[in-house]
Amino acid sequence: MTETVYRLGPGCDVDDIVEGNIYMGKVQGFATFGTFVNLNDKTKGLLHKSNVKTERKERDNILVLVNQIRPNGNIDLREVELPEGSYETKLVAKKITLSRLDDLRSKIGRNVTIEADVVQIKQTSGPTIFTICDDSGVEDAAAFTEAGVRSYPEVNLGDIVRVFGEANKRNNQLQIEVSNMQVLRGEEADNVRARINKALEARAEPSDDVKPLIESEVINALWPEMRKLAKIIRRAVFTQQPIILRHHADADGICAAVSVETAVIQLIKDAGGDPDMDNFLFRRSPSKAPFYEIEDVTRDLDMMLKDNVRFGQKLPLILLMDNGSTEEDMPSYKMTDVYNLDVAVADHHHPDDTIDKYLIAHVNPYHVGGDFGVTAGMLGTEIARLINPSVESRILHFPAVAGIADRSEAPELQSYLKLIEANYTQEDCRSIGIALDYEQFWLRFNDGREIVKDILNLNNSPERHSKLVDLLVSESNAAIEDQMNTMMPHVTAQKLSSGANLFLADVEMLAHRFTFPPPGKSSGEVHDILCKKYVGEPVVTLGLGPDFAVIRSRGVLMNIPQMVRSMRDEMPGAGISGGGHLVVGSIKFVEGMRSEVIAKMIEKISEFPANTV
Ligand code: MN
Repeated sequence: MTETVYRLGPGCDVDDIVEGNIYMGKVQGFATFGTFVNLNDKTKGLLHKSNVKTERKERDNILVLVNQIRPNGNIDLREVELPEGSYETKLVAKKITLSRLDDLRSKIGRNVTIEADVVQIKQTSGPTIFTICDDSGVEDAAAFTEAGVRSYPEVNLGDIVRVFGEANKRNNQLQIEVSNMQVLRGEEADNVRARINKALEARAEPSDDVKPLIESEVINALWPEMRKLAKIIRRAVFTQQPIILRHHADADGICAAVSVETAVIQLIKDAGGDPDMDNFLFRRSPSKAPFYEIEDVTRDLDMMLKDNVRFGQKLPLILLMDNGSTEEDMPSYKMTDVYNLDVAVADHHHPDDTIDKYLIAHVNPYHVGGDFGVTAGMLGTEIARLINPSVESRILHFPAVAGIADRSEAPELQSYLKLIEANYTQEDCRSIGIALDYEQFWLRFNDGREIVKDILNLNNSPERHSKLVDLLVSESNAAIEDQMNTMMPHVTAQKLSSGANLFLADVEMLAHRFTFPPPGKSSGEVHDILCKKYVGEPVVTLGLGPDFAVIRSRGVLMNIPQMVRSMRDEMPGAGISGGGHLVVGSIKFVEGMRSEVIAKMIEKISEFPANTV
């Protein structure tokens, strides 16, 4: 039988030594009672003179058998002689007791070893901060070589590393003070990555206990896709992937986005995240258009790519709410595709399936036989509950606010109203929606996070909430009234061959401009007045600008996206584009073709069958 001789690897200590085993040592020095033998850099034993067999000098190799490890850690050795070639050598690797990041709190002041994925690398003026993610959580590991100098330059974003260091608390934040960090490669890295992935998969899965708030076939049918989207968002939070939430800048879009924002911020906090970092990891941006404009995607790309370089941040998940589902988003999706970005959508605009190849999830009521009556705010609130059920009571009124603001006629709206009847009347919800729309007009591209939270009564200050909403509603009403007094005398009427009443309202020359209400809203208000005046009759209202028109209709079987497409084909020199919902939308054209386009549009609208309502 071949003997085994062990060599104690670097980092090993007395805990890695087994009594009775033979080790390869090196003579370190002599004392009167015997010889000291190093088993590696930091572990040595004593060869008592009674156990010495041969004469040695310093730094000689020597084979020793471990007689005994004393309770105080002293190691007693005995020299053995084995002929060359009669034994094999084996390296003893340090026995690693891995810790998990969610366990650090109980290990303050102690050394830990963590295997994790590097999710962010930030160079400060002092240490280099590696944010690492394992199967249990995310924490920072601080490594210091010299002030402002990048430590472990061989470690890159996305590497699997083994970090050794002391668990510590700095400014009340847990962190590891790194004494060694090693990039794992090949199979070793694959195994760790697989372990982290498996745990993340399970952790990101939304709870089975969360069920839809209301009885709805549409919501039920959308539930699997909503769970999928919620899981994608939870996973982004757990892996420190930034989230950019783009949404239509109206009350419905705001309700959709703020419900998800509330759930995500709470989830970051629940997962032990740094609240000061919230802005960094989650950004909500309103978009003026109901689609992802080139201007928006360009701004987002610019910022995220700089952050990627400057802060070693991952590329974000882009989430589009109350927009994102139509052909008009295509140019932006081609951009996100170049950078291989994750894009997901929750929308209730009529979807074009050509965009689905760019999306990792797409929640849309049209996919399951529903329509725009199940609004983005309703979808967002259900998704937010799947992300983090603990925020439910704070956002429970959002679906009703969104539904009323977006003029939903779906039965779902009544169910959502019923949920909150003890706290909010239908009128309260309407007022909140009006206040959101009015305030967002002045906020322009800003998210106005805290103001919006006050309007939505998320700030635990009901008195300020109602004062603010009352003020904004009366300001909004006064501005609308002024606009209607100006516009209505100029509205012209005609009867179409289909029997529908068509009204033309000038939103440029005969209306206040660059103030509230903007042209789309002004046209809607004109339309509402006319619908009340012509009860039971089909009504189409065109709000006409210099190079655009806003279309509102009731009681006519319109298909605006289809109309825009056919006009574009028939009038190639008119520069036509646009779309929207089936019965509410807008169209753009070149100013010089204005009268031809309006004439063609009236011709097309006459072709849609009109009903009495
Ligand atoms: Mn909407």
